[in-house]
Amino acid sequence: MDRISLVIPCYNEEEALPFLYEELCKVANRMNGQEFEFVFVNDGSKDRTLEVFKQLRAKDNRVRFISFSRNFGKEAAIFAGFEASTGDYVAMIDADLQDPPMLIEEMYNTLQTEDYDCVATRRTTRTGEPVIRSFFARKFYQLINNISDTKLVDGARDFRLMTRQMVDSILELREYNRFSKGIFGWVGFNTKWISYENVERVAGTTKWSFWGLFFYSLEGIVAFSTRPLAIASLFGILFFLISLVMIAVIITKTLIWDDPVQGWPSTVCVIFLIGGIQLLCMGILGQYLSKTYLETKRRPIYIVKETEEGKEKDRRNRKN
Ligand code: UDP
Ligand code: MG
Repeated sequence: MDRISLVIPCYNEEEALPFLYEELCKVANRMNGQEFEFVFVNDGSKDRTLEVFKQLRAKDNRVRFISFSRNFGKEAAIFAGFEASTGDYVAMIDADLQDPPMLIEEMYNTLQTEDYDCVATRRTTRTGEPVIRSFFARKFYQLINNISDTKLVDGARDFRLMTRQMVDSILELREYNRFSKGIFGWVGFNTKWISYENVERVAGTTKWSFWGLFFYSLEGIVAFSTRPLAIASLFGILFFLISLVMIAVIITKTLIWDDPVQGWPSTVCVIFLIGGIQLLCMGILGQYLSKTYLETKRRPIYIVKETEEGKEKDRRNRKN
């Protein structure tokens, strides 16, 4: 008999939770040869999410929960859930039923019979999503796959079932700026991809704004590629070479024709161009520097306020 841990990050999900719990119970019933553990993570919700956890816990001791002291973000919630999980297999699943829990059985069977360490999901369609968002999402995947050695699958969801070995490897990556899609790919192991059509969330609203996603994708690029730094250096080399040619041309012109001063428009254009590129490159540098700055502080990824075992007093999250 295997134990399967389901990790569910929740931020303001009081409306979706009852539906989710019902579905999870159905899955657990169907797979009654296996033991289940539901690890709910309350990521500093402002609604009654924590109370719902407590109610569920009171009637079902498969339910465990961790409650953060504030909102640390989905990445931190996933990490905390993985750390708390005790199963031989660990799945991560969204609270809004956009990830069909019924697939867990299929995933588990695949891991049993085939030589995979992880079964992950991707959605084939993005129906119900704003058009601009889909467009930028696709562009992002193209870009990052071009500039990073860690390949990301377009449309990949975080929903997946992994072996304990793979989860332990993920837990070894204790970086503060977490980008799970990249981390899952970086640790390697054999992953089988299964596809399904996009499902809209059952209740509540999405927690991602366009800009939220935009900065999250920058995070992904900075965390998994240093290519932008190389591009910045390339700009430098290119403009140095151009300037050598220009210096030669100007000296020759002055010596031969004694060129009088002329043309401030061209000068202004050059100043704007070079100035702009300098700022861009400084911005790129700044991105990497700021991430380095945050990493060197070695702050805990999350802080627990309460678990199913009661209020946390001193047990701050196990730091490195
Ligand atoms: N979530 C979280 N912390 C956050 C934002 C989201 O734990 O700061 C959880 C949320 O409760 C849900 C999952 O992450 O279970 C996915 O969020 P959402 O459905 O809003 O994202 P989308 O499916 O629209 O990408
Ligand atoms: Mg969702």
